[in-house]
Amino acid sequence: MPDDPKAYAADHPAIAPYVEALLAPEDAVLAEIRARSAAAGLPDIAVGPFDGRHLEVIARSAGAKRMIEVGTLGGYSAVCLARALPDDGHLHTFELEAAHAQVARESLRLAGVLDKVTIHVGPALERLADVEADGPFDLVFLDADKAGYPDYLAWAEQHVRPGGTLLADNVFRKPRGREMADVIHAFNERLAHSGLWRATFLPLEDGLAFAVRL
Ligand code: SAH
Ligand code: MG
Repeated sequence: MPDDPKAYAADHPAIAPYVEALLAPEDAVLAEIRARSAAAGLPDIAVGPFDGRHLEVIARSAGAKRMIEVGTLGGYSAVCLARALPDDGHLHTFELEAAHAQVARESLRLAGVLDKVTIHVGPALERLADVEADGPFDLVFLDADKAGYPDYLAWAEQHVRPGGTLLADNVFRKPRGREMADVIHAFNERLAHSGLWRATFLPLEDGLAFAVRL
């Protein structure tokens, strides 16, 4: 129903340019991060400008002080999340690749938020144990390897406080192969039906899961 004014995903071609003109969500700091990440050879898979703003506003609205990000890349989304932190807040972000983490460190420094962020290098599932004592957490953002999503969700179930927020990117992505589609679908099913979360799925870019821990 393309003419349904209450359609789930608002894909009218005029909307993006309208909001772009209104907000200019990618400021000079974020534009520099995107350009420097590309120049360093990082894959072009950071959140887009609109989702960057969505992350910041959701995190501010949640009043999150203790945050986790899984999948740092060049630090684009980490800067968006860190901008939402109060002075005494902290973000732990996890990245497998040392080269990505190095770009991210520079991004966080240039954005003036490096003192509020710790980058942990290595497989997130192993490194997350290092920060458990700092929990429970107010907000977790998942955006790393999709195969790991079910394990990251299990971790979040243990370490997000009641009332805390879970965000997960790319939950509508057509993953490579049937197996990955099944993994993401199982993640979405568990988020929707475990009874541990009140979940919704925002039709942004390729899908942002947004849930509150019950
Ligand atoms: N959140 C970033 C984009 C992340 S892209 C942004 O929007 O700016 C996904 C990142 O997850 C890549 O940098 C990749 O190296 C990292 N990654 C993949 N597998 C991982 C793992 N097991 N542990 C931690 N990071 C991983
Ligand atoms: Mg993503």
